[in-house]
Amino acid sequence: MKLENCSPAQAHGRERTCQRCGKAYPSPRASSLYCGTRCRKAANRAAQANPQAECSLILKALVRLGMAGRVSATQWGLTVPREVAFEEVSLIFDRKGWGFLAQAEFDAALAADGVKVR
Ligand SMILES: [Zn+2]
Repeated sequence: MKLENCSPAQAHGRERTCQRCGKAYPSPRASSLYCGTRCRKAANRAAQANPQAECSLILKALVRLGMAGRVSATQWGLTVPREVAFEEVSLIFDRKGWGFLAQAEFDAALAADGVKVR
């Protein structure tokens, strides 16, 4: 998240957004992800029951490259310009022998996964 999008409290790590329910909550810990035990446990359960089921191979590759990340509980966002992300992912497809990745296919996957493109 960009600093200018945060309230002063968020910039100092006191007010955080829960990665599960999206609620703003105060936390002294910068590593805190959830508003409470309930959300943390629910998120862990969901991750175990359904590992990476909610996103495509393309988004998984982007996350692994550090080129995409969560911007809210339900939304992903690219951390690099779209052309850079496309270039990297198509290289990986090529290297792994997964076949040619078309721009349209890439865009469709991002749209399906709810990834905000810069
Ligand atoms: Zn929560």
